[in-house]
Parts: sequence; C-alpha cells; structure tokens
Amino acid sequence: ASDSGTAIVDESVETTDGRHVEVAANIGQPAELEPAAERGADGVGLYRTEFLFLDRETPPSEDEQYEAVREALDTFPDGRVVVRTLDIGGDKRIPYLDLPEEENPFLGERGIRRSLDPDSDLFATQLRALLRAGADGAGDLAIMFPLVATVEELDAALDALDAAVADLESREAEAADPEVGVMIETPSAAFMADELAARVDFLSIGTNDLTQYVMAADRENERVGDLHDPTHPGVLRAIHRTVTAAHAEDAWVGMCGEMAGNPDLTELLVGLGLDELSMSAVTIPEVKTAITETEYSSASERGDRARLAATRSEVHTSLEP
Ligand code: PEP
Ligand code: MG
Repeated sequence: ASDSGTAIVDESVETTDGRHVEVAANIGQPAELEPAAERGADGVGLYRTEFLFLDRETPPSEDEQYEAVREALDTFPDGRVVVRTLDIGGDKRIPYLDLPEEENPFLGERGIRRSLDPDSDLFATQLRALLRAGADGAGDLAIMFPLVATVEELDAALDALDAAVADLESREAEAADPEVGVMIETPSAAFMADELAARVDFLSIGTNDLTQYVMAADRENERVGDLHDPTHPGVLRAIHRTVTAAHAEDAWVGMCGEMAGNPDLTELLVGLGLDELSMSAVTIPEVKTAITETEYSSASERGDRARLAATRSEVHTSLEP
C-alpha cells in the first residue's frame, strides 16, 4: 500500500464496464522515473524536457538529451513515453539562453513559438536526440509540441521533424517513427482541435495553461485562484470540444495538466471521454483505483450534465455522489 493507504495498481486499468484508460506519469528529471514506475504508471504522459536545461550553464548536448530519453524508454519497456519538446518562456526562464525580456511573458514567445525561432538550433538538436533515442526498437516514443495556437505552427514543427529525420538518414543514423501529438493549451487550439487532430496521432490537454487562457486568470496569481479552476463550465466545454474533435479524427486524447491527477475529478474526466490521464506520480494509485470504480456509461451522463451546467457551483452539484 502507498502512504495514502491506497493500494498500488501495477496493471493497466479499466472502468467497471470495460473502458480502458491509460494512467501515465508527468516527469521532469530522470530521477523521477523509478518512483513513477513504482507507483504503477503505465508510461510517461508528459516529459517536461525543459528541466534538463535547468541548473547548468549551457544547454544539454544532443547526446545528453538522447541518454535522458533513452532512460525513460528503458524504464517503461512496455509503456508509451510522451516527450514534450522544449517549453521555455512564460514562467520558465533559462538564464544562459539570454532570451529577450517581454512585458507579458505568458502571452509572448513561449513553447513552440520559441522552438520555431529560425535563429536557434535548439529544436533541431532536440528532435535529433529524441529520434535517435526511440530508434532500434527502443520502446514506444511519442513526441508532442507545447503551446500550439495555429495549424501553421504545427505544420512548421512537423516540417522540422521531417528535416531531423532526413538529417539523421543522411548520416546513416537510425531514426524512430514516433507518434506525434499537440498539446491543447490555448483557446485557439481548442477551437482548431479538429484541424490539429487531423494532422497528428493524439492531442494532450494541458489544463494548467488552458484554464489560464480560457479564463484569462494567471495560473500563478492566488488573487484570481477561484477563476483559475478547470471545473468552470467554460473550461469543461473546451475539454469536451477537444475530445470530440480528436475522436472524430481517430486520434486519442489525453490530459496532462494538474486536473488529471485529482481523484475527485476522475469520474468526470473518464465521462468526458479522455483516453489517457497523466499526472505527478503521487496521485497515480488513487486515480487508478478511481477508474476501476467508475462506470463509463453513468460517468458519461454525468460529464454531459457537468459541461452543460451554467456555473461552477452547478458543475460541483452535478458531481456529487
Ligand atoms: C499545462 O499547461 O497544463 C501543462 C501540462 O504544461 P506545464 O504545466 O508544464 O505548462
Ligand atoms: Mg503548459
């Protein structure tokens, strides 16, 4: 049993009526891999690679990034490892990269916008490292892009991925053929989820940022903490729209924001149709247990009631047992 008294569930889990839901871990450092496996993670749903860039003086080399991802793939030989490309800017500053000061960093050059900067080779280096790490049957690698707002950005990121494959092939190095996904973290991405999903294998909803941008409420500012709450119906409708769009394009859809790790919301999220939930390792046993206690058909009705509510308090009433 874990500290909380909830038994660790090693196997993959499904609802009482047989709907499988993947439960994965959010990771920032290689040291978090083993504890996540011990807590019963099916794989990694969010590898925040920017943490590999912190607490040092220069960016990690291609080989260092390769080793870090390889370690994740080796820890989960039977599970998927979703690596997010570099997500800097906003609250995530890296002193040695010497990026320009911005007046509104959360509305500035963050996430994929920074990676697509033509004056930087960080993105190309990272993509080569990932493609090498997932090659030679080294496990089930997936790559996803953060803070996408437009189809043009996704197309540019996919072009960069193709270029990295071509680059490796020209050096006779083997490249993986990973699943590719987009994080849904901006209102534009939620509105464009159908077009985005048509171009990739999966979507992963980042509710920390999605809530911040849908509600126009800073994720760091406690004064607007009541607004920065993913159970507002405005956010639930963005989630529902994303799930529906993904499934219509035969893409799977996960969630890797903090919301996914709240066992009180597991039934709601399963009911909204999420295929995967990714969270910090501590909550995995509780969420896995909650999934095994959920009946999908009734959760789905509850999910509809919640998203069709007019207020947050009506949402909460709809979630009561
Ligand atoms: C999110 O925004 O929900 C997310 C998972 O990304 P991060 O918290 O790293 O911004
Ligand atoms: Mg985010």
